[in-house]
Amino acid sequence: MTKKLKKMLIRIIVTAVLLVALHFVPVSGIARFLLYLIPYGIIGYDILRKAWRGILNRQVFDENFLMAVATIGALAIGLLKTGDYEESVAVMLFYQVGELFQSYAVGKSRRNISELMDIRPDYANIDTNGQLTRVDPDEVAVGTVIVVNPGEKVPLDGIVESGESSLNTSALTGESLPRDVKPGDGIVSGCINMSGVLRIRTTRVFGESTVSKVLDLVENASSRKSRSENFISRFARWYTPAVVFGALALAVLPPLVRLLLSFPPEWSEWVYRALTFLVISCPCALVISIPLSFFAGIGGAGKAGILIKGSNWLEALSKTGTVVFDKTGTLTMGVFDVVDIHHSELERETMIEYAALAESASSHPIAVSIRKAWGKPLDMSRVGKVEEISGNGVVVEIDGQEVAAGNSRLMRSLGIEPIECHSTGTIVHMAIGGHYTGHIVISDVVKPDAAKAIAALKQSGVHQTVMLTGDGKAVAAEVAERLGIDQFWSELLPEDKVEKVEEMLTRKPAGEIVAFVGDGINDAPVLTRADLGIAMGALGSDAAIEAADVVLMDDDPMKISKAIRIARKCMRIVYENIVLAIGVKAVCLVLGALGLANMWLAVFADVGVMILAVLNAIRALFVSRL
Ligand code: ADP
Ligand code: MG
Repeated sequence: MTKKLKKMLIRIIVTAVLLVALHFVPVSGIARFLLYLIPYGIIGYDILRKAWRGILNRQVFDENFLMAVATIGALAIGLLKTGDYEESVAVMLFYQVGELFQSYAVGKSRRNISELMDIRPDYANIDTNGQLTRVDPDEVAVGTVIVVNPGEKVPLDGIVESGESSLNTSALTGESLPRDVKPGDGIVSGCINMSGVLRIRTTRVFGESTVSKVLDLVENASSRKSRSENFISRFARWYTPAVVFGALALAVLPPLVRLLLSFPPEWSEWVYRALTFLVISCPCALVISIPLSFFAGIGGAGKAGILIKGSNWLEALSKTGTVVFDKTGTLTMGVFDVVDIHHSELERETMIEYAALAESASSHPIAVSIRKAWGKPLDMSRVGKVEEISGNGVVVEIDGQEVAAGNSRLMRSLGIEPIECHSTGTIVHMAIGGHYTGHIVISDVVKPDAAKAIAALKQSGVHQTVMLTGDGKAVAAEVAERLGIDQFWSELLPEDKVEKVEEMLTRKPAGEIVAFVGDGINDAPVLTRADLGIAMGALGSDAAIEAADVVLMDDDPMKISKAIRIARKCMRIVYENIVLAIGVKAVCLVLGALGLANMWLAVFADVGVMILAVLNAIRALFVSRL
């Protein structure tokens, strides 16, 4: 518990004790009034101060103003008429209990979320005599040279010493276009290196690097408001003035009418009703329970291995109508076996060694699999300049020769005519020194639950599933058919994928969400562009986890439909709470205006609704059987 919360708790306990003690103190008149001002001041001083500031800043109508007017008014009635001051202090006390509860709950879930989505880079690569060692970024001194491979986060701010690449800076700037860097350019931590190997001389220690500032941004991102939360603030904007003027009318109009009809005006009765009306009107239950419902939903999803980056994304998930998938690493394992080698002039071993060297810096699943197929240590001193061309392959200098490994598009772009392959599988064509040397046929397996996951999506109300892939048409068709996917497009470049998703965005029915699921390798821009980006967290690159709005920690495609069901449940609870809070409030307001409710009832109704709403909100946390 933080200091602030502790202080509040002490104020609450002291006030409660004083309130009970004063009840038995046999003083009356003005002395009693002055005695009650002590607990009132202790519990309410900050509310009074905030209300006063609100008036000075001309932002009068907030809940502080409501509480201040109602309690001061109740004190005044006590002084002038009834001699009862307990009510006023108690109202303030209950209000503060609610506030304490709220800040505790909100603070706790904030911390959980930022712990879950730690964007802190875990390591920096330091080059010691040709060997890369991973060290804690905190330990790297200014002026050290660090190495950043494609797909990795830049851990520290610095200047590029050698290498060329493009950087994804969207986590820092919101800019989705990659930024190209070359030697001499400044580079900030927290970007993701997309294509080439970079050697960077650091200019700041970790604590002062940009990424430390970005961590603050993430805190804010997690509190991004959803539409339903905005609903509260929009609601408050007309609601508070409405009840204040309503109360004013209630205090003034009936006595005036009575005067006109020559009855006694009963001013204090009507002023009291007006003040009760104000206390009743406090929308505490709404204000507390809606964020809490979202936090509970996000927390429950987190326990299920689904990381949701903010309440707005939870709301989006609940409206998902179309789910678009990337193939490799998302629907398939992304773990390829080498099936065959065709048309090779080289020994099988030599061919794979060249391929492994070429793929040594790539984090693409194909690259990882080829390195695994080689299985022996690589002599990295043979590797020079590295270039990875998204959605095509790699072009690398090995022993001073240019070696290309990738698809037929890559070969043609280098002016080399590949030999087409007739086996079904993913084909890695190879060329050494501009000369075609054959291709490696590799095959991937579909994730065990992928077909079930697509069926489960249909059951949860998703009416369209689409697959986009950079891979060849034959493989794509086979996978789509096996999994029961409605539609597929193949041989797409990363920018084609963005275009396809944009097309779907323009054609979708209003109020519906198009979600894209990917691993972030060659599809981070699509993750950002779709209404909702869902990333595979375990296999996915840092880029994906950064760009996505929802991260599946264990890469299980079954989790997508689960996430949708969790979101639907949570939204249902949110709406239940809105209806409950506003409904009870309306009934109490009418009772208050009719003089059938006093302030105690008002406070208890509010606390009661709040407790019900909070208990209901906590239901969002339980998701294991969804
Ligand atoms: P997907 O959409 O299936 O995830 P990608 O967009 O990542 O596929 O890649 C598209 C195609 O580009 C791959 O099927 C492969 O032919 C080629 N490719 C991409 N990166 C590499 C690489 N590092 N090595 C070899 N081929 C690659
Ligand atoms: Mg991919």
